[in-house]
Amino acid sequence: MTLRLFNTLTGQLDPLAPSDGKALRMYACGPTVYDYGHIGNFRTFLQIDLLRRYLKLTGVPLRHVMNITDVDDKIIRNASEAGVAIGEYTARYEQAFFEDLESLRIERPEQLARATEHIPRMVELIQKLAAAGAAYQTEDGSWYFRLSAFPAYGKLSKKDLSGMEDGARVDVDEYEKDSARDFALWKAAKPGETSWETPIGRGRPGWHIECSAMAMEYLGDSFDLHAGGEDLMFPHHENEIAQSETATHKPFARHWMHVRFLLVDGRKMSKSEGNFFTLRDLLLKGYKASAIRLALISVPYRHQLNFTFDGLTEATNAIDRLRTFRQRLMEGNFASGGNPVLQAAAQQAQVDYMAALANDLNTAEARAPIFDLVRTANTAIDQGQLLASDRDAILAVLASFDAVFDVIEDHDAEPTRRALEWAKQAGRIADAAPELLARQSLTDEAVEALVAERTQAKRQRNFARADQIRNELVAKGIVIEDSKDGVRWKRK
Ligand code: AMP
Ligand code: ZN
Repeated sequence: MTLRLFNTLTGQLDPLAPSDGKALRMYACGPTVYDYGHIGNFRTFLQIDLLRRYLKLTGVPLRHVMNITDVDDKIIRNASEAGVAIGEYTARYEQAFFEDLESLRIERPEQLARATEHIPRMVELIQKLAAAGAAYQTEDGSWYFRLSAFPAYGKLSKKDLSGMEDGARVDVDEYEKDSARDFALWKAAKPGETSWETPIGRGRPGWHIECSAMAMEYLGDSFDLHAGGEDLMFPHHENEIAQSETATHKPFARHWMHVRFLLVDGRKMSKSEGNFFTLRDLLLKGYKASAIRLALISVPYRHQLNFTFDGLTEATNAIDRLRTFRQRLMEGNFASGGNPVLQAAAQQAQVDYMAALANDLNTAEARAPIFDLVRTANTAIDQGQLLASDRDAILAVLASFDAVFDVIEDHDAEPTRRALEWAKQAGRIADAAPELLARQSLTDEAVEALVAERTQAKRQRNFARADQIRNELVAKGIVIEDSKDGVRWKRK
């Protein structure tokens, strides 16, 4: 089913399909690698991951490019405070970013592009703008984009820019003023700062030119989709459009997707507000990566999401329900044949699930039929009415749910292990939840030995010892289940 996705540029739901009939060419603004990402950043990357996965599930090939901003004001400041070269400084946070993506099971784009590796391409673009009279150099050697050269400025954010002052300039990377200004394309080198010697002078690129240059390098002058968080719409994306379309006289991206913010107590989660959690903070508190993923994607991208710990607990419980149900299907013995009622229920759930995602990636609506199916099927199993081909049909629905949501298959051990490893090295182990440390201290072999000892104790009718072992294991996050086929255990 073709996805209908809200397009900020047209203000309506537009079908999204590859315009060249081959692959969907998309660009997403990536991280500035000056620190660990917070879960607000990751909400945006998660929602873009959902988009990727839905497109792949419906057979659309992708060419997804994401930039890594590895030079900007904050990076230069922090690296110089740390007394290291910016490359050394950013390498650490870039690696942390990739680890966090992996923990949250966010797929890597087909193409990553570091800003510092594309300087010549940016310089060429600035030269082109200068030749067209849309870029000018100031006395200190910096280059600015002349906003008056692009009358369509503001068409994405639909801001009223009537108060725009001709020739007023801005050169910091981050500014949130509602007024538009000529913006920096190239910043002249200041003493002691990282800079590049180029035909337009010694200096470094502004933030906006990066994305234009790298998007066009890998995707061509015009491409299908551009995505990012809602804060990037203005001025960053407006500036990208202005630079690119002035240089090429062609439409830049056809479709624009903006993910709304993750909030805390009604305010944007952000570094500067100090109200943020990193992924590592939450893993150390004992939350599972899958629960964080589900909590951040269950509210559709066009709605702001208020972060709460209750939300994480709800997601944890929802995942437990799904995993237990799937286990029940896989391990149960079901008579052959199919129950028409369950066959129809599975088919309907699949149709409703796909339709909800096709409708502007409505994840909240997409979850509902899956959980309804779990309820119906659990009742049918209780009543002995679920048959082998019903199981197969339902497992297939769960598989397509997991192709996008990716929370049922359990990959939670590694992110937690990695977070603890990191905490030890970063001197943050005191932040780890005591249960988490206790849980981690028991190896699989130790658990097996205790489980065997408990079985032995029960056989000898030493129930006191058997209960004591069970309680000890429970305290360390190990759940034991006695079944006909013996004892099973798992980590909570
Ligand atoms: P940055 O590393 O600051 O450049 O941001 C990376 C991405 O995260 C951008 O697409 C931002 O728009 C997005 N972002 C930043 N804060 C939030 C938030 N609180 N909620 C959702 N997305 C955010
Ligand atoms: Zn960008």
